[in-house]
Amino acid sequence: MRQLAVGRALDRELFAFVELGSDHYAQGFADGVQFVTGCTFGKDLIVRIPHGKASLRLVDQEKGRAIRVALRPEAIEGVEQSNWFRTCSSTGRFASETDRAANPLIAEIVAVPEETLFAVGPVFPLRIEHPDPTFESIRCDGCGESVLTTYVRKVDGRHLCVACEERQRVKTR
Ligand SMILES: [Zn+2]
Repeated sequence: MRQLAVGRALDRELFAFVELGSDHYAQGFADGVQFVTGCTFGKDLIVRIPHGKASLRLVDQEKGRAIRVALRPEAIEGVEQSNWFRTCSSTGRFASETDRAANPLIAEIVAVPEETLFAVGPVFPLRIEHPDPTFESIRCDGCGESVLTTYVRKVDGRHLCVACEERQRVKTR
């Protein structure tokens, strides 16, 4: 954010791509990105790219440019070689009773300079296309639920939501 000279996204100023996969142990990384940048799931300002990395591409949507930040391999290796991490990974989960064991590691991480933890690439041009919002809903002829018109599928003269259309397709197969 400092490199892009941007503040937290109050509206839609930023966009974040986190490069974690859903099986990455460091899911909290995405929470951290949402908290710090304001690029939240609710604002539809964050997506996952499943690359298995604790890294981020942050886009300044107003200026059409972005920056990539990645945790340095030495920093990740430092965590993964700690006693706390080994205990957690041997049980396959991060249990709350082992949180205290992480304290020395956390103290170490917050004390080192940012450059030791993160590699920050150059600013590069990047623009994101967003669809115009849809404001019109109708009732699905199948389930009766309200659905945005852009998601409605027409089957034999009936207007169906995605779920009902799929159910219909399975039935007629
Ligand atoms: Zn339906």
